Amino acid sequence: MALNKEGPMERKRFFDELESMDRKDRDLYQLEKLKEQIKRAYENAVAIKELFDRANIKPDMIKTFYDLEKVPIIRKTDVIEFQKRYPPYGGFLTVPENEIQRVFITPGPIYLPHQIEEISWFGKSFFAAGFTKGDVVINTPTYHMSPAGILFHEGLRVTGATVIPTGVGNTDSQIKTMLDLKVTGFAGMPSFLMTIIKRAEELGYNFRKDFKLKKAWFTGEMLPASMRKVFEEEYGIDTYQCYSVTELGGCVAYECAEKKGMHFMDEYLIEIVDPETGKSLREGEVGELVATPINNPYWGLVRFGTGDMTSYITEPCSCGRTSYRITGIVGRSTDAVKVRGMFIVKKQMEAFFANIDEISRYQVIVERKEQRDELSLKVELKDESIDRSELKKRIEEEFPKSLRVRLDRIEFCEKGNIKEEETLIDKRKWD
Ligand SMILES: [Zn+2]
Repeated sequence: MALNKEGPMERKRFFDELESMDRKDRDLYQLEKLKEQIKRAYENAVAIKELFDRANIKPDMIKTFYDLEKVPIIRKTDVIEFQKRYPPYGGFLTVPENEIQRVFITPGPIYLPHQIEEISWFGKSFFAAGFTKGDVVINTPTYHMSPAGILFHEGLRVTGATVIPTGVGNTDSQIKTMLDLKVTGFAGMPSFLMTIIKRAEELGYNFRKDFKLKKAWFTGEMLPASMRKVFEEEYGIDTYQCYSVTELGGCVAYECAEKKGMHFMDEYLIEIVDPETGKSLREGEVGELVATPINNPYWGLVRFGTGDMTSYITEPCSCGRTSYRITGIVGRSTDAVKVRGMFIVKKQMEAFFANIDEISRYQVIVERKEQRDELSLKVELKDESIDRSELKKRIEEEFPKSLRVRLDRIEFCEKGNIKEEETLIDKRKWD
């Protein structure tokens, strides 16, 4: 645990008391907040009333977290549809319009009324990533229309860090700013930081020696383990990830110094569900992240389906934060197929095969035989001299560890039989 307890100012361990709350107490707290949110939304937001009435649900029917499964999942397309019917806020607003402090606009367009939070939700994430007074940070997302720039800015400020609103793009001026102002921190997307580093090298700098950058906080795209390794080992930058969702107006999960998954943000009720049925999944199973903001008196969303596929772990974290963690986003629900009750996400599967050097091409095929999903794998080898039985045994063992489903068959093919882009094929027909 890297939190510094020494030094002139002893640093507190947690951003707020919720983070280290006893799990039973958190459940009670969140359930209470959830009921309030649902009642407020039902009474004030016409879209929610309409959705609940259509599903024959009354707010007082939600007595436990599991009762929430009865509520239909609201997706981005539904929000856009509702905003067309009930312009401009789609019937999700729970306060009078003249109470709105600011409105963000996200692609769709979705008009997203936003309250200025009492405590910045992103602040928790920056705090957990070790940002503090004395840090000088370039904040590189856009400050226009979308919430990213302003919300990260506010989150950084509550940690005491100095923020430079550099915004998007302008790599060369970002580089000059970093040098002139001795920038120690970066907030934005990992690919953009890599662009900055490569450009600085092109200009003749030795990044590690000439720059003071020590910390980077990422959101907006996933950080591949290989890229993280380059940042940390080659460039000496401590990296952190945050999972944020624009339509939810904030940070949904964030990494601590342990970097073993992202802690659920207490300001949401987070579920990992089967995107087809909306039912909660068990620990470790891959499903869609669905979140209900429970501390947002403005925005009456209930069960917003993010379309992002992940799984969760309940194991206590050694940082002392008691919330569950998501293990990382493995892909989109539209990119997933359900096989014997488990979702195989294409990207996650491709990441698995990327680690098997002996394979040049492969194809995973899902079929339905005698009322059972059958999963087979076709493989083309890089080199015909590879020991097939050893490789077959290894894939049979490792595939279910990563994808949680067993392969029924592995078949080796001659080169040229598999199309590179067709890595996952679903041949099942549902009549
Ligand atoms: Zn932790």
